[in-house]
Amino acid sequence: MTMSTPKPYCLSLTEYKRFPTREVKIGGIGIGGPNPIRIQSMTTTDTMDTIKTVEQCIRMIEAGSELVRITAPSINEARNLELIKNELRKRGYQTPLVADIHFTPNAAEMAARIVEKVRINPGNYADKKKFDLIEYTDEAYQAELLRIREKFTPLVKICKEYGTAMRIGTNHGSLSDRIMSRYGDTPEGMVASAFEFLEIAEDEGYQNIVLSMKASNPIIMVQAYRLLVSRMMETGRNYPLHLGVTEAGDGEDGRIKSAIGICSLLDDGIGDTIRVSLTEEPEFELPVCKDMVKRYQLRHTPPLKEIISLPYDPYAYSRRHTTTIGNIGGKLVPIVIADYSNSELISPSSLEAVGYRYDATSDKWHIADGAADYIYVGNNSVSFALPGTLKIIQNPGNTAHPIEKIKCFTLIPAKDIPTLTTEKQARFIDLCIDDEYVWSNAFINNLMQQQSIILLLSSTSKNRMQALRRYIIYLNENHIAWPCIIRIGSSAGTLDEQLIELSADSGSLFLDGFGDGILLQSAFKTDQNTKVSGRTYLPLTSIQQFLNNTAFSILQATRTRISKTEYISCPSCGRTLFDLQETTAKIRQRTHHLKGVKIAIMGCIVNGPGEMADADYGYVGSGPGKITLYKGKEVVKKSIASEKALDELIGLIREHGDWIEAE
Ligand code: SF4
Repeated sequence: MTMSTPKPYCLSLTEYKRFPTREVKIGGIGIGGPNPIRIQSMTTTDTMDTIKTVEQCIRMIEAGSELVRITAPSINEARNLELIKNELRKRGYQTPLVADIHFTPNAAEMAARIVEKVRINPGNYADKKKFDLIEYTDEAYQAELLRIREKFTPLVKICKEYGTAMRIGTNHGSLSDRIMSRYGDTPEGMVASAFEFLEIAEDEGYQNIVLSMKASNPIIMVQAYRLLVSRMMETGRNYPLHLGVTEAGDGEDGRIKSAIGICSLLDDGIGDTIRVSLTEEPEFELPVCKDMVKRYQLRHTPPLKEIISLPYDPYAYSRRHTTTIGNIGGKLVPIVIADYSNSELISPSSLEAVGYRYDATSDKWHIADGAADYIYVGNNSVSFALPGTLKIIQNPGNTAHPIEKIKCFTLIPAKDIPTLTTEKQARFIDLCIDDEYVWSNAFINNLMQQQSIILLLSSTSKNRMQALRRYIIYLNENHIAWPCIIRIGSSAGTLDEQLIELSADSGSLFLDGFGDGILLQSAFKTDQNTKVSGRTYLPLTSIQQFLNNTAFSILQATRTRISKTEYISCPSCGRTLFDLQETTAKIRQRTHHLKGVKIAIMGCIVNGPGEMADADYGYVGSGPGKITLYKGKEVVKKSIASEKALDELIGLIREHGDWIEAE
């Protein structure tokens, strides 16, 4: 399939090249231009509690935060930023502070005189969100823009006068009614929303601006940033970009979602500062940021084969067209291959790690939603009957299996393709794209002549994502539609680093519709436990479990295969009305088996409902000890006591037919 080449959104798709942005000074540090990619986080304390906030800021700074953002929901908190700043400076911390503003221009104007940067949300600055789909005539739209100009210009003038920087931070979930009416909640709408405010600031001669386009769905987030850069390129702009996935959640899922969204862009040279939003203590966000950023330090990559015309649209998702072979490719969900090639012994109980539990009493296998489809055993053997849905891939020469042939496939080295006979039976091909011969015409001709092959693509290049993407594009250019399994291995020093590497290098490909399956591998052996990580993984029995969870979470985050409940939970801030971490854990415990249901857990009613994105159910703090429940964007139960709220939420899920009993 060919299409007209879409507008570019980065300097290179085949070589690591950072998009050159202007430098914006925030106190003593610069963002964009020649500066490294900066990392930052946001406090979760009550901004009126000066000492608690200062102490949290210090923990974040000590963990590496180069900027610290603090929420200022009203003029009182904005005023208190002065006390916080003074106390921090008194204690010897010069880190620039950022005031986070929603709705309230007077708080923004106060904060801009105190801190080094203000963040405004163009979806709600001086706007009350009504969730009304009002039809705006051109005149009404222009009148709204004039109103915004009047409200926003004073802040721009103050920033100019005080040398304060500004982030125009668009959120997918909180676009203004005006933007929604014209664009819907689309990446186009997000970019238009930022541009409305950007143009007002530029008219005042103010350009000390950073832009962001966050969303909780990494696909939307990545498309919005691409569109923003493409629009900047078209109009000669070069503002630095702050990257983040909002409401990413906690634990591994939060890290995986963030790595996919953020690193997809960083790989293509987009992004000057990052924040990972986790529903955890903010200082835990910084090690994750560091693991991401260090991937790009001193990243010099030799260019790959040039792309003449992009055969897919980077601004709209569509799955690469592939041939269906067995249960792989076409419109089928991507398969997951579990790696048992390093295991000394494969037993029925070791398969529990990848979703298969054998019950000896009933002689039955119980299969989880997140159960692997294949196991790659390498040279190892399986000496028991496998569950019906599980198949084996083995190395050539391994004939150890007393099992039905239909369940067993050999992984054939790509160099042996010329010796293969063309036959209908599916064959897996081990193809490392770093080998020069796989780019040759002769090799491509051989691929074309085969009947049913599935390619396991790997690379050890530093820009592995770009390299794998280039090869898949090369296959498309040659009209080869064999399914491709993305095979990614990691030998990074901790599980946390491996989590980031595996998610970033594979997830970016699934976001663009590439990949009919995934095989993750780790240099850790089964007997190396989770102590190698900076934090505890709960509860991990083996490296296979880690890899299997990661593979399914990557597919879930890229919405290519839904196997579990999705949680959209805000990172909490000074507005939060309940213990978000504890509540999220309790909700997860009771609802984790609701495959495909999306539950938002938001700390406050002011921003929460706007930022729940496309959640099916919302659990939102609406006052001290009070929770309001939502079905989609509609309030269904107001201000219920927090002790009853979880039962009420489950009742609501039941009422709408989305409840099933846990096994
Ligand atoms: S939704 Fe959460 S992070 Fe956002 S303002 Fe409310 S409490 Fe803070």
